[in-house]
Amino acid sequence: MFGNFGSSSGPGPDPDDFEAAREQMIRTVAPRVDDDRVLEAMESVPRHAFVPSNRRDSAYEDRPLPIGDGQTISAPHMVAIMADELDLEDDEDVLEIGTGRGYHAAVTAEIVGEENVYTVEYGEELAERARERLADVGYEGIAVRTGDGREGWAEHAPYDAAYFTCAAPDFPDSVVEQVRSGGRLLAPIGSRTQTLVEATKRDDGRLERTDHGGVRFVELRG
Ligand code: SAH
Repeated sequence: MFGNFGSSSGPGPDPDDFEAAREQMIRTVAPRVDDDRVLEAMESVPRHAFVPSNRRDSAYEDRPLPIGDGQTISAPHMVAIMADELDLEDDEDVLEIGTGRGYHAAVTAEIVGEENVYTVEYGEELAERARERLADVGYEGIAVRTGDGREGWAEHAPYDAAYFTCAAPDFPDSVVEQVRSGGRLLAPIGSRTQTLVEATKRDDGRLERTDHGGVRFVELRG
């Protein structure tokens, strides 16, 4: 799944250096993760292929990076924690709100299968770029829609799980509706102060929530 990203842009780090850096990144996030499949997924995804080219040297540092349009790609440990908390199984259908560059979607795809990942991005350019990059790296099965994630993506519902990579005031009704009963939701909830909230949808449609502490994400747009 590595395409030519390590070597195609002329001088720069050797692809082997990326691999060593990625292994180091996995060691850094491992203590925060219970499920080995999450670590295996992150070991498979070339994060350097998803960050802007001038940020490639920092691609495996455990911190968020700017991706243009005022947005950021989450720190690797946050992607790891979210994937771990969602407890994803092979073949589950997953809705992501906030594609960004597509890195997190690729990690999810490594766990559930790329045909099962549906992601919505508000920014037209970001969506287009993510679509191209995902296809280049080998995740052409991931479906990217340009639009407002608050509406979810009804066409492919119901989902087993849905997560947000941008902070929302609360779980939007449409997204809750599109998650099956017994399914899970995960989102940073709030604006200036945010809490990572996980929820299970009960049979009566209500959410059973668990807080996972303070986080800092870009806010939902639109
Ligand atoms: N997960 C991404 C990073 C996402 S940053 C990655 O791995 O690269 C959060 C993203 O949410 C941004 O790209 C932003 O444009 C997007 N976003 C913000 N508001 C949105 C909305 N209403 N619907 C869909 N996407 C939204």
